[in-house]
Amino acid sequence: MTPFSYRCTDCGRTFSRDEVRYLCLDCGPTYRPGMPLVGVLEAVFDYPSIAKSFDPARPDWDLFCPVERQYHPPIQVGNTPLGRVDRLGATLGLSSLWVKNDGLNPSGSLKDRASYLVVAEARRLGIDLVVAASTGNAASALAAVCASTDTKALIFVPEKAPKAKLVQMVLYGAQVVPIKGTYDDAFALSLEYTAQRGGLNRNTAYHPLTIEGKKTAGLEIWAQLGYQVPEAILVSVGDGVILGGVHKGFLDLHRAGLIDRLPRLIGVQAETSDAIHRFVTTGVYADAANPTTRADSISVTCPSNAHGARRALQESAGETLTVTDAEILEAQATLAATSGIFTEPAGATALAGLVKLQAGPRRLSGSGPVVILATGHGLKDVDAPLSRISIPPAVEPVLERLSL
Ligand SMILES: [Zn+2]
Repeated sequence: MTPFSYRCTDCGRTFSRDEVRYLCLDCGPTYRPGMPLVGVLEAVFDYPSIAKSFDPARPDWDLFCPVERQYHPPIQVGNTPLGRVDRLGATLGLSSLWVKNDGLNPSGSLKDRASYLVVAEARRLGIDLVVAASTGNAASALAAVCASTDTKALIFVPEKAPKAKLVQMVLYGAQVVPIKGTYDDAFALSLEYTAQRGGLNRNTAYHPLTIEGKKTAGLEIWAQLGYQVPEAILVSVGDGVILGGVHKGFLDLHRAGLIDRLPRLIGVQAETSDAIHRFVTTGVYADAANPTTRADSISVTCPSNAHGARRALQESAGETLTVTDAEILEAQATLAATSGIFTEPAGATALAGLVKLQAGPRRLSGSGPVVILATGHGLKDVDAPLSRISIPPAVEPVLERLSL
């Protein structure tokens, strides 16, 4: 671990790690549920010390980690494969297209990375309860990580979350409270719970270490590409925290002088859950009025990290675009059929965005590697693809009757 402090991403005030837990002490009090978070904290490390110590030949990733290793849960999270998808790349005019398959984390999503670090922090602080609101994946992730430790998980989740995700969290032993309402309602309730009844709140971006956990996906992409910065990384965007996290990974590398530029981040949203896209393109924030997308993991009315995502896109010379549910499900099927990677609709949203981008005037040149971040496993929600495919009917097991 390298010494670090927290810095407010709005006012710039800095705090020692134990002086503050969630939001900036100055800006945070102006936050009310139902608006994007203000006063989100970022961990600022001793970058000269990282620069001196980091050796790509024997990388010590603990240098970038804000919680001491002795508190880390025993479950193995991260180090997911980054694989070339040449068949898919050929159809998109990209000779170096890669998929980071984060559906292969223990609970089947990238959210394991954030839960891992927040549970480590809870163990450091001696807190035995971690509380989260989630569309499903963050809750499954928290439940899985807690199951490997003595820490308890309390989860508020919309009752309409996909069944597989609910099964996961219950089976992992979490206390699950389905909410008659949306993710945004669950978010607000979980904040009230930890403020009044205790526990450590793991809400995304609200706890700064969720961003630090997710940044490890960015660090891994850099290392897995042979310490090369990709031309672009496509990320599905709901709350904007994965986007912010991947950006933070590259920002840390840049601040430590280990890379000389940032990769372009391309944030892709479902068109009914497009608050960040509109914020980035118009400069004016407004909630997504009716986020009805089948990509449940990125279905958000009020993205908690709208400000951070916008900043990440600006700093990386990135952009956003939106896609329809039909385009998302088409991309899910294309990825599965050309690469063997089965990602949930939210994970395939990034590819749907790439398909759209490559068909238009702003297509990527392919001058360097392009990475699609597949954020969750397809088995988490098989109802979504079933809406566009059918399982063939059963036949008698008699060879003569087969017309194949
Ligand atoms: Zn502040």
